[in-house]
Amino acid sequence: MKVLIADSINEKGISELEEVAEVVVNTTITPEELLETIKDFDAIVVRSRTKVTREVIEAAPRLKIIARAGVGVDNVDVKAATERGVMVINAPESTSITVAEHSIGLMLALARKISLADKSVKEGKWEKNRFMGIELNGKTLGIIGMGRIGSQVVVRTKAFGMDIMVYDPYISREAAEEMGVTVTDLETLLRESDIVTIHVPLTPETKHLISDEEFKLMKESAFIVNCARGGIIDEEALYRALKDGEIAGAALDVFEEEPPEGSPLLELENVVLTPHIGASTSEAQRDAAIIVANEIKTVFQG
Ligand code: NAD
Repeated sequence: MKVLIADSINEKGISELEEVAEVVVNTTITPEELLETIKDFDAIVVRSRTKVTREVIEAAPRLKIIARAGVGVDNVDVKAATERGVMVINAPESTSITVAEHSIGLMLALARKISLADKSVKEGKWEKNRFMGIELNGKTLGIIGMGRIGSQVVVRTKAFGMDIMVYDPYISREAAEEMGVTVTDLETLLRESDIVTIHVPLTPETKHLISDEEFKLMKESAFIVNCARGGIIDEEALYRALKDGEIAGAALDVFEEEPPEGSPLLELENVVLTPHIGASTSEAQRDAAIIVANEIKTVFQG
């Protein structure tokens, strides 16, 4: 069996695969080279750089597995793979804690104005009075989507002393009871939360889930955090809400267009932005590589 590693993944994943397959690592492979060489491989491992298009899949008669060492499979033509009987695997559980921690990091950045304070000190200022913050303790956190990541946010924010409300029409009463959270409707969550954090996938149902009307429901003192997918928050509505003081601040790791070149959000002080690094820790990347390597091994070993 031959495996092509087309994007850089953790060494541990590579050594696992070497136990059962001939592994070729080419993490600078171009789309043209990929089209040419994919015919010799039984599996390909990618992260987000390499696009596994229909053309690539159709040029790969031996291909059995496309593995994404991470969560989203936006860069894989899953329909084309399914049509050709090629298995698409990923490692959705590998990044849950990492993304939850990033979301909480962004909450703290907003609550304590960390980015602005950092910038100010580096400019040689000492503006202690400008950076009065709030505690997370005792505040109400509204979690939209309590799946893998949302659940990790629950566990960790409870330790901060936050009261937690969840909007997720697809979770069972038992799951909510087990996590010790109040499940509510979206309107109540938006009205009552001091911080709202989003952990749903982007679907036709969640596209612009948070727009003008929803911002109007929120407290003027509220913050919103999105580490899920761009497009769940309507960014034009967010800009209006921040400008008009309908909410106090926002933190985004994901954008409707990435990078968010020319977005008016870049000019606002009450916004904290990171470049889609929610899953970027060495632990998450290591775990993603090991999980997909083990799945490939299992398939190869029959
Ligand atoms: P998950 O599938 O485990 O959980 C999603 C939850 O959302 C589920 O409980 C589901 O019931 C709920 N949901 C679905 N539609 C909903 C709706 N319309 N309203 C309310 N709830 C709804 O997914 P996860 O692993 O927790 O990941 C959540 C999202 O985080 C992913 O879809 C992905 O887009 C994003 N993500 C981002 C990064 C990053 O780098 N920033 C990394 C990993 C994942």
